[in-house]
Amino acid sequence: MECELCGRKGVSSTVHHLTPKEEGGTFGPTANLCPACHKQIHALYTNQELAIRLNTIKKLKEDDQIRRFLKWIKKQPSTKRVKVSKSNEKNRKK
Ligand SMILES: [Zn+2]
Ligand SMILES: [Zn+2]
Repeated sequence: MECELCGRKGVSSTVHHLTPKEEGGTFGPTANLCPACHKQIHALYTNQELAIRLNTIKKLKEDDQIRRFLKWIKKQPSTKRVKVSKSNEKNRKK
């Protein structure tokens, strides 16, 4: 499958809710993202930011922070496991 954000082919797919479920997007549009892009999005942005500011693939692609990441990830082979900062994940664990 092809990641809707970085466009790499042959990556495994995860479903991202463009408006996070936590913000009421359970039945809203989703995007198929590779695990690296998906993790990066949630490491960079809070659910509120995603819901308000970055609720389409187009808006995500236009954001400076993710653009810098995309530039780099596009050069990585789809088979490579990419390390992503998990700071955000840690914070969310209760
Ligand atoms: Zn991707
Ligand atoms: Zn997500």
